[in-house]
Amino acid sequence: MLLDPYNRRLNYLRISLTDRCNLRCVYCMPEQGVPKLIHEDILTYEELLRLARLSVRLGIEKIRLTGGEPLVRKNIGDLIKVLGEIPGIRDISLTTNGVLLAEQAQALWAAGVKRINISLDTLNPGKYAEITRFNLFDQVWAGIQEAERIGFSPIKVNVVALRGINDNEILAFGRLSQEKPYHVRFIEFMPVGTENGWSTERFLSSDDIFKKLQVIGPLYPVNGQGLDGPAKRMAYDGARGEIGLISPISEHFCPSCNRLRLTAEGRLRVCIFSDDEIDLRTPLRNGASDVELETAIRTAILQKPKEHPIQMNPLPRKCQRQMSKIGG
Ligand code: SAM
Ligand code: SF4
Repeated sequence: MLLDPYNRRLNYLRISLTDRCNLRCVYCMPEQGVPKLIHEDILTYEELLRLARLSVRLGIEKIRLTGGEPLVRKNIGDLIKVLGEIPGIRDISLTTNGVLLAEQAQALWAAGVKRINISLDTLNPGKYAEITRFNLFDQVWAGIQEAERIGFSPIKVNVVALRGINDNEILAFGRLSQEKPYHVRFIEFMPVGTENGWSTERFLSSDDIFKKLQVIGPLYPVNGQGLDGPAKRMAYDGARGEIGLISPISEHFCPSCNRLRLTAEGRLRVCIFSDDEIDLRTPLRNGASDVELETAIRTAILQKPKEHPIQMNPLPRKCQRQMSKIGG
């Protein structure tokens, strides 16, 4: 079991497969993108699998693949298949912007992914183009439909809540959760990266979202399971789907944080908001033994902070890394 100094059991690893992305969401990346890692800097699948195996041996049970955009990395199905065969893995999932989902959903399913998170901050194609800087709403929507047709469950739709941009669509997303078997999850806008446009004016709290959602009708709590993560889950009476509220800013879930993050270049990030990272790639490439790598991971975990310092008052300090390089 992997315990941090505050007795939190770490069993969830988010692996960023690449820093590349085929969108430029305004809250995540500047229009021109961010300096890219060179190919040699990115962990190979072989290296990544070695770290994944060691992490599972230490206590990781759930892996999420993210990015950048994970579906732009080649042969991701092959990686997923091997990851799924690691003894001790209970869950493999993926967070994608959905642009390449329609064409890859079948292969992902065959490789063993059965649940998927798709980021979609608006149901309006024009606004989608404004938020992501690409006119690809229909393609993403087709990907979601295809995932549903194939049988992915749950399909989680991640919505970053942006005051003045998509707050007028909260009810539309609420209705989507009634009509479709989707888990619509509103995520508070986080001040991550130096150029992501975060401001108190843009910030919309989960409380405000919850109040708006109740215009449709009362929401009933849905009980989560062990690996469900920090979303507060609820649903409308008779709805096919659910609503989730994720409140990293207004209500820290640090006391129950079970996560580690591995960046595409092999750095272990023990807290989403902390720029203190531990380089695993150098020892990996310098021939470190399994025991040495395990020791490096355990040492890194000792640095996991008790809680992150981000709150509304005083104003948050931004962390330097762009979200596209952290993986969400
Ligand atoms: N490209 C994939 C995608 O968009 O789903 C995976 C990587 S993305 C960094 C992972 C998640 O982080 C997405 O759901 C995205 O909306 C979310 N995200 C990015 N920047 C954010 C921010 N500043 N605040 C809150 N969520 C953010
Ligand atoms: Fe790309 Fe995802 Fe960031 Fe949007 S949120 S720019 S899709 S990494």
